[in-house]
Amino acid sequence: MLRPVKKDYGQHFLVDENILGVIGRLAELQPDDVVLEIGPGEGVLTRYLAARVARVHAFEIDESLAPRLDGLGDNVDVTFGDALRLDLRTDATKLVANLPYNVATPLLVESLDGLPDIALWCVMVQREVADRLFAQPRTKAYGSVSVLVQLVAERTGFHPVARTVFRPPPNVDSALIAFKRLGLPRDFPRVKKIVNAAFAHRRKTLPNSLELSGVATRANAAAALAALGCAASTRAEALAPFEFIALTEALRVRELVPDVTVKLTGSALLGPTYDVDLVVVTEDVDAARARLGADVVVTRPGTIEYAHRVRAWERILDDPALAAEYRVAKLDPARKREFFERVVDTFWNE
Ligand code: SAM
Repeated sequence: MLRPVKKDYGQHFLVDENILGVIGRLAELQPDDVVLEIGPGEGVLTRYLAARVARVHAFEIDESLAPRLDGLGDNVDVTFGDALRLDLRTDATKLVANLPYNVATPLLVESLDGLPDIALWCVMVQREVADRLFAQPRTKAYGSVSVLVQLVAERTGFHPVARTVFRPPPNVDSALIAFKRLGLPRDFPRVKKIVNAAFAHRRKTLPNSLELSGVATRANAAAALAALGCAASTRAEALAPFEFIALTEALRVRELVPDVTVKLTGSALLGPTYDVDLVVVTEDVDAARARLGADVVVTRPGTIEYAHRVRAWERILDDPALAAEYRVAKLDPARKREFFERVVDTFWNE
């Protein structure tokens, strides 16, 4: 007999087993995989997973489903409770789930840094949510979730799903989306805070939104944007994901040493990467260095260090051929250094 579903829990159970094959393919299931499933429901997907991987750890809010989830296999364990409150850390390296739609976004965002061992996600979500995760800057769908997900992962699969594969059919479209972890930017909690604050008032300029959200003064935000080569009137939706890393770094420096000029050099100016280099330009080099620590270059205008870092970068940015050459060279640290030295050498000898 069909059990009545609980709408509050976003229960839309899979009834078309063809979709399981698509999930298996996008999740790249391997016999030694350990999988985390959130919301096993009546266990349709859980059973499919259990037959193909080493272990499934499932977390389900609705205890009345316990009889359905009994006996799915020795390699399945089910924990009952709210996945938003439970500690979901296990030895799982893949998150595979038909997620409850009302909590899908916070669960995914939390998992980016909260579940660092998850290397691949394959999740069924509302189509609108799927579109948001990998949306491009300056589009309506682009927001804080897009930035955070794209800083951590790259999309590896997408499959729109018909409403008819669920019981009861939801009144929104769905999609399967798969993505793989690339890494985790340094100080991700701080990046997260800045990104959320930047989009909190998305109609406002970034300096206004950051100040209204209480994470930076308008002046520091404008100076940090200037370090990226952006006007103070820039809105959050105009920055690419990796530019939020640079913005966070530039803000950190401005907070530690007010009144310095921060210049962004390095890959962040030329394309998506975490390789953000900041040069702090100030007359009082010693005082700035004492506050900033070793990972930031502090220099005075007109010095050899300034010429090396800032002038070389200005030159690369001004010349499309050099910029293109740098994009290739940056993949290899040795070539990158050699290329950079060559740029410095040429303007040195002019
Ligand atoms: N995996 C099943 C399937 O594909 O047929 C069910 C998917 S259904 C869309 C979502 C499931 O998540 C439901 O079983 C629901 O009870 C459960 N759920 C809803 N909110 C939850 C929460 N906060 N924590 C854990 N499970 C939750």
